[in-house]
Amino acid sequence: MKTTHRSIYEDVQVQFNKAADLINMNPGIRSILSQTANEIVVHFPVKMDDGHVRMFTGYRVQHNNILGPYKGGLRYHPSVDLDDAKALATWMTWKTAIAGLPYGGAKGGVQFDPSKCSVGEIERITRRFTYSLGNNIGPEYDIPAPDVNTGPQTMAWILDTYMSTRSQGERNNCLHVVTGKPINSGGTLGRDRATGFGVVTTIAEWAKENKMNLSKATYTVQGFGNVGSWSAHFMKEKGAILLAVEDISGILYSEKGIDPDQLMEFAKSNNGKIGSYPNAATITHKEFLSLKADIFIPAALSNQITLETAPLLNVKLVAEGANGPTTPEADEVLQQRGIGLIPDVLCNSGGVTGSYFEWLQNKRSEYWELEEVMEKIRKKVTEGYANVSSTAKAHKTDLRTAAYIVALNRLEKAYIERGIFP
Ligand code: NAD
Repeated sequence: MKTTHRSIYEDVQVQFNKAADLINMNPGIRSILSQTANEIVVHFPVKMDDGHVRMFTGYRVQHNNILGPYKGGLRYHPSVDLDDAKALATWMTWKTAIAGLPYGGAKGGVQFDPSKCSVGEIERITRRFTYSLGNNIGPEYDIPAPDVNTGPQTMAWILDTYMSTRSQGERNNCLHVVTGKPINSGGTLGRDRATGFGVVTTIAEWAKENKMNLSKATYTVQGFGNVGSWSAHFMKEKGAILLAVEDISGILYSEKGIDPDQLMEFAKSNNGKIGSYPNAATITHKEFLSLKADIFIPAALSNQITLETAPLLNVKLVAEGANGPTTPEADEVLQQRGIGLIPDVLCNSGGVTGSYFEWLQNKRSEYWELEEVMEKIRKKVTEGYANVSSTAKAHKTDLRTAAYIVALNRLEKAYIERGIFP
């Protein structure tokens, strides 16, 4: 699988311009939203296990906060750079607006390969990155969350470092500086599965509209981390059959179906990797992409469905668990081929919605039951889907453009109501 190789921020602009043209957006507001607000780049030293000091580069891009504090994940990956963070931050602004959350959009991360570092090194990188970000994050200002190669443990280190650098009296007021924390450290029940649950909630809504019977459906998943594995878990609850899975360590295929829960257990004891799972065969990347199935869930990195790969897909629906898996040109190919697509900004919005409920609980010093959290996420994501779907029908356009229209309308309205300072 190819990783990021072109400017995804340019792709974001293409998508944005298409929707802004359709709603004839106010030119001033359009120019505000076509730029990011703040782009923070930090270079910081970390002492490695062998005693030498290595410099790292970290990013936090804050795109827009008219609707509320900046919100978005932190990613640890060699492909993290300013362009990537700008694109991902912009998508977060649209996503929180579509989900109807009181948040803006941000994203960031550190450019390195965590699989080549020890746990101790990753902890020191995380703490030093947090320290370097300083007041550029905050519980009512910019609230990071997990993304690729980061998780609850990363959030616990960020929280601890952030708290430790505040004054004594402030320390317990900032539990909500990050979401996606371990439960014991202020996390919410259900945040682990929130994104995958949201992905499957949107698939179920699409299936209802398009008369697809999910209990007889087949699907494939790219990426078996947080989003991919939980999506597969909830697809199993619907009765769907997982035919193939790809992750960084290999590709699995079984005509009879792969049990996602068994595979999740296997991955847990294999450093998150599925490559050596014994109960399936192996296929090539091209065979994986060409496999006949009802649904494909990309849940790894961006730029996977391109002009080269879109013609290979043999599915009825692409449900974008990952952020930015499809380029604008590939979008057109899928449309021409009659393949449905649930766009990332809607499809994976269950994650940030779960984060919002964690943030609310922290602010109120409450702990909610799992069922309550999941039901609240289901309601928000279903409303988001209904809103985007009816907008698509009204504008006779695709779901991605409709999702952008929903977001841009909400943002435009806020700017018109408030005006521009001074
Ligand atoms: P993760 O680190 O938990 O999992 C990433 C998965 O992708 C792993 O299985 C990894 O092996 C696989 N992968 C990485 N490189 C690959 C490659 N070259 N080929 C095939 N597979 C590869 O990350 P995640 O949190 O599950 O995030 C996955 C995607 O979902 C990202 O695009 C992220 O931005 C998006 N997303 C995540 C959340 C969340 O709550 N975690 C929310 C919304 C969107």
